[in-house]
Amino acid sequence: MQRQPRGADAPVTLFGPDFPFAFDDWIAHPQGLGAIPAERLGQEVAVVGAGMAGMVAAYELMKLGLKPVVYEASRMGGRLRSQVFEGGQGVVAELGGMRFPASSTAFFHYVNRLGLQTQPFPNPLTPAAGCTVVDLEGRTHWARTLADLPPLFSEVAGAWAQALEEGAGFTGLQQALRERDAPKLKALWDRLVPLWDDRTFYDFVATSKAFAELSFHHREVFGQVGFGTGGWDSDFPNSMLEILRVVLTGCDENQHLIVGGVQQVPLGLWQHAPAAHELRHWPAGTTLAGLHQGAPRGGVTAIARAANGQDLVVTDTWGNTQSYPAVLTTCQSWLLTTQIAVEESLFSHKHWMALDRTRYMQSSKTFVMVDRPFWNELRSSGWPQMGMTLTDRLTRGTYLFDNGPDRPGVICLSYAWMGDALKMLPHGTEKRVQLALQALRKIYPDVDIASHIVGDPISISWEADPHFLGAFKGALPGHYRYNHRMYSHFMQDGFAPAERGIFIAGDDVSFTPAWVEGAVQTSLNAVWGIVRHLGGATHAANPGPGDRFAELGPMALPD
Ligand SMILES: Cc1cc2nc3c(=O)[nH]c(=O)nc-3n(C[C@H](O)[C@H](O)[C@H](O)COP(=O)(O)OP(=O)(O)OC[C@H]3O[C@@H](n4cnc5c(N)ncnc54)[C@H](O)[C@@H]3O)c2cc1C
Repeated sequence: MQRQPRGADAPVTLFGPDFPFAFDDWIAHPQGLGAIPAERLGQEVAVVGAGMAGMVAAYELMKLGLKPVVYEASRMGGRLRSQVFEGGQGVVAELGGMRFPASSTAFFHYVNRLGLQTQPFPNPLTPAAGCTVVDLEGRTHWARTLADLPPLFSEVAGAWAQALEEGAGFTGLQQALRERDAPKLKALWDRLVPLWDDRTFYDFVATSKAFAELSFHHREVFGQVGFGTGGWDSDFPNSMLEILRVVLTGCDENQHLIVGGVQQVPLGLWQHAPAAHELRHWPAGTTLAGLHQGAPRGGVTAIARAANGQDLVVTDTWGNTQSYPAVLTTCQSWLLTTQIAVEESLFSHKHWMALDRTRYMQSSKTFVMVDRPFWNELRSSGWPQMGMTLTDRLTRGTYLFDNGPDRPGVICLSYAWMGDALKMLPHGTEKRVQLALQALRKIYPDVDIASHIVGDPISISWEADPHFLGAFKGALPGHYRYNHRMYSHFMQDGFAPAERGIFIAGDDVSFTPAWVEGAVQTSLNAVWGIVRHLGGATHAANPGPGDRFAELGPMALPD
């Protein structure tokens, strides 16, 4: 199934580019993800973290006939956190992931399985936003499409397209990805890895012929507004490979929100009973919630090798210890040194180096609930009261969520990263709202946003939470080798026995951090690794990621 080539006009998906394996086909195959030996059925395996990676792994391991034991130190759902506004008829603030590219096909496999509804996300210059307001250097522009903006913006868009073409052979690369021509995609991508691993996004832009021919201001506008989701200068210090992956795999376009909140996806998997024919060992109707008497265990404080030299002992926050033949950790990797006392010999020093050098980006969001989607009321000019707003002011990105005329609306007053998020870090929610309103008043002097606010505002800084320490990975130049070590860790045949049986997954283990699809795909890698570790295997008709790793796995750079 997964080896069928696709047509030249097939949609862009997160197929590689580092490891072009069709995870979406693998999980949809009627033969399932494999089989474990009969004597292992019902055996417990530990899953640390109830975010998307943990839930996908637990759900799939349950289907295979194992008994996942999920531990969670904070809130189920992890960085897919939809916080309900009190008294708001169920309207939510999406504190973590909020817009999901259609190219996230393994993620959407689970969304569809749960029957959740989606809607186009109101990104800049999209029909879903209706109106986009760009406010830079004190000048405000109103637009529905790029063509409504001054020519400078089209020049910037053109320069970016040209830079991608000249610097990365973008069209050919994306064509190979659409067609799922893995050898061709790998050949093209692997050529770029050594060229761009050591260099930043900013370097790529500034040294491109396309931007060199334009003014510094063009570069500045690109950094402020970018194309797709905006705010790209926060990523300027990142490795260029990371940015290339985002644009190549369509992560920055055609994005959707999950109606009612994305948290329903991980929490839905917790409650979902797979079809009887998909489930081995367990009776029909079995769910993760049922296997756990409703709630996961508490946080994990230690992981060590058991006295038998085989199993792993997990200690939870209440001092309970339990042995498992395999443990999957899905928390951000820094937590393996700050929250969990992980016995050092469980990872090689090369792996510890990679886990600790992982670099996280900061992110803050501030939301208010408003009485109604008042911004839709038209001005005499024909434009609405407000639009999705991109600015160089403190707020950076402001998003408007219309939940229908009879329900409260939600405004994400500010979604900011890195330095702009750090400016918010010491402040409480009230002050953040005041700062955001102050900035927005400069853009919309005649709109009294405050008069529409109802209920309590909500804000978040992921870097301030000890269970996360940052929003998501943002690899720096020279980090490819660390990514490679972490991503490949599920292939354990060559490891010393002391390092086997512990697995890692999550979007910081993936090559596409900040995108939930990376959490799902690395979780599926770990499922394959755990099945193999327990003596199981995939069906010949549906080889898994580890079966194809030697052929398709990410290229290695010399140490
Ligand atoms: C601000 C922000 C915006 C984002 N935007 C998008 C987006 O628009 N689109 C998109 O696709 N993705 C987005 N993402 C990324 C997406 O949210 C993540 O990829 C995904 O949620 C990560 O899932 P995970 O399971 O890997 O990690 P997590 O969700 O972090 O799950 C790990 C879990 O481990 C728990 N944990 C920590 N320590 C312990 C311990 N000691 N014991 C037990 N449990 C522990 C944590 O509490 C957490 O619940 C965004 C993320 C953030 C933060």
